[in-house]
Amino acid sequence: MTRDGVKVSILANAGVEEEAAAAAAAGAEGIGLLRTEFLCLYEEGPPSEEQHEAAYRRIAAAVGGRVVTVRLLDLAPDKLFPLGDDLPVGDLPIAERGIHYLLRNPHLLRAQLRGVLRAGDSGNFRLLLPMVAGVTEIARVRELLAELAQELRREGIARCKPVPVGAMIETVPAVLMAPEIARAADFLSLGTNDLLGFLLGARRDDTGEPISGAAFEPSLFRAIHQVVQAASAAGKDVSICGEIAGAPAFTKLLLGLGVRVLSMGLHRIAEVRYVVSETDIASARQLAEEVLSLRTAAEVRDLVLAQVDPWQLLLRRRASEG
Ligand code: PEP
Ligand code: MG
Repeated sequence: MTRDGVKVSILANAGVEEEAAAAAAAGAEGIGLLRTEFLCLYEEGPPSEEQHEAAYRRIAAAVGGRVVTVRLLDLAPDKLFPLGDDLPVGDLPIAERGIHYLLRNPHLLRAQLRGVLRAGDSGNFRLLLPMVAGVTEIARVRELLAELAQELRREGIARCKPVPVGAMIETVPAVLMAPEIARAADFLSLGTNDLLGFLLGARRDDTGEPISGAAFEPSLFRAIHQVVQAASAAGKDVSICGEIAGAPAFTKLLLGLGVRVLSMGLHRIAEVRYVVSETDIASARQLAEEVLSLRTAAEVRDLVLAQVDPWQLLLRRRASEG
């Protein structure tokens, strides 16, 4: 809760079940981003639907019924796993990454969707599509899900529960089409790591880390603002699952921009929760309004950093590390 009683949901980003279990133990309400690329890291080839199913059952058990947001395989140069000849290399355009890559390689998409549907009785799953650029890919995944659910019922394998379908907003076209995407999807999640790269025309570094020093770029906050407005007009939830969601320096600003769901690495939860409890929404909104009027990253940085008490954060971090 913020100081003035507004509820903020803290979810965790996870890649493997141990991380998911630790996040639940640290008080995360669920998994806001399950990076499924990690589930297949040590496999020889693309995972089978049985391997997907088993992994999602283990994750659901690890978080004890909390929501698990399964981000469909986001194959990109920064997140490789052995795909044999299909290995995507180099700088791929959006049209060949994330959900677009899966739609062109339907055996991968079918195996993953069937795996999620088969695991459905074990947990509270949602699907999240990476690198969405418009509404077409959402419609195609919904059609395929309906078809696969029928198939699984016919085969006597599973009676499938409906699974909500969310869109990652992490490309420039997705920001521009946010009102339409918000109507077509069940929820939105802002992937600010990639979005920042696209806005700046910059790459993530060689380790796949976002270019975090540039996170003060005013265009990023204008984009977040537009997406939050679009989600709210469509009555859909929007979260942030990029690194900025776990950076306490930005918490007040993100709350001021209207974000109420933050998904982060588990070691960030204690600090962000502390900043949330110290924030009041009226002053957060004022900060957001000011930031939206600024022109340069330097101006944003000065204003945002002036809000943060580094000593309090340090004490919190020390306390949470025991
Ligand atoms: C993002 O792009 O912000 C995101 C959360 O996804 P990933 O870091 O896995 O690309
Ligand atoms: Mg991304």
